[in-house]
Amino acid sequence: MNRETSLLSIVLPVFNESGILKKSISEILKHVKATGLSYEIIIIDDGSTDKTWETVSSLSGDSEEIKGIKLSRNFGKESAIATGLQFAAGDAVIVMDGDLQHPPELIPRMVRLWLDEKADIVEAVKDDRGDEPFMSSLRAKVFYVIIKYLSGLKLDNSSDFKLLDRKVVDACNQLSERVRFFRGIISWLGFRKVKVPFSVRKRAGGRSGWSTGQLIKLAIDASTAFSSIPLHFITVLGIITLALSLIIGTQTLYMKFSGQAVSGFTTVIILLLFIGSVLMLSLGIIGIYISRIFEEVKRRPVFIVEKTENLKATDSK
Ligand code: UDP
Ligand code: MG
Repeated sequence: MNRETSLLSIVLPVFNESGILKKSISEILKHVKATGLSYEIIIIDDGSTDKTWETVSSLSGDSEEIKGIKLSRNFGKESAIATGLQFAAGDAVIVMDGDLQHPPELIPRMVRLWLDEKADIVEAVKDDRGDEPFMSSLRAKVFYVIIKYLSGLKLDNSSDFKLLDRKVVDACNQLSERVRFFRGIISWLGFRKVKVPFSVRKRAGGRSGWSTGQLIKLAIDASTAFSSIPLHFITVLGIITLALSLIIGTQTLYMKFSGQAVSGFTTVIILLLFIGSVLMLSLGIIGIYISRIFEEVKRRPVFIVEKTENLKATDSK
């Protein structure tokens, strides 16, 4: 394949970004044109409740290369990215945020790394978290620590801003799991990766769509999707309680045979509470895995397309 004459797809998941979308697209276009490749920009409207789809329609009316997909409701950014990867026709696909926090000026450099160094995946990594408020950067840190310990994925500073070669996109599209975590999947897939640092820009408009609840859900999804460590954690808990019960059991028997076994109520209460919580915690963890199995066996689609602009539903591969 001659990469110099190939098609570049830009995939933009957007949710309630009508305030900034026009500006985003014009900046992105400027840098995409600088690469000299032919291109398409695929905007996925993730069930926005504002005027985002109207903006997408008018942008795609102006230019053939700008394509829009409207999902039937808000499926979340992960599903919106999966939609974009299904529809993208490019030999290379760049996934980036629609709020200009992923600097478009990085696009030509990412493309050069793909063309010249034959990188299969170009990952933009954050060299800092921009001027994020203290609380939200703390939130993000906690989130990464949880994921790292529970799933072994090292995601700090990684972002969803990535260039993927066609073969990576195809591999991604082949995965059939319903609950998706883009960064984890890319890290799991392998291939030749090259990193480029960038500093996160301040949000130029609108507001971050992540609530703490959504972040916790993502942490649980990501951890349980990529490892069974939480399940093994239960076994470890079991071993610890067994060891404790041996110690306390020996002590109790000793007390009994030496004839001083009257008091000991405190021990009974503590043991009851302790074993009760361990059992509940274990059941909870098993429950999370069962709910994941439940989600997967239903085999519902990851996204539902309501309508498209400059694309046919059959364009999805
Ligand atoms: N986004 C989306 N669906 C959602 C939430 C967010 O498609 O349910 C998009 C959003 O429009 C933006 C990108 O995902 O383009 C990143 O979202 P956001 O800026 O809210 O997250 P942050 O930058 O705080 O990580
Ligand atoms: Mg953002």
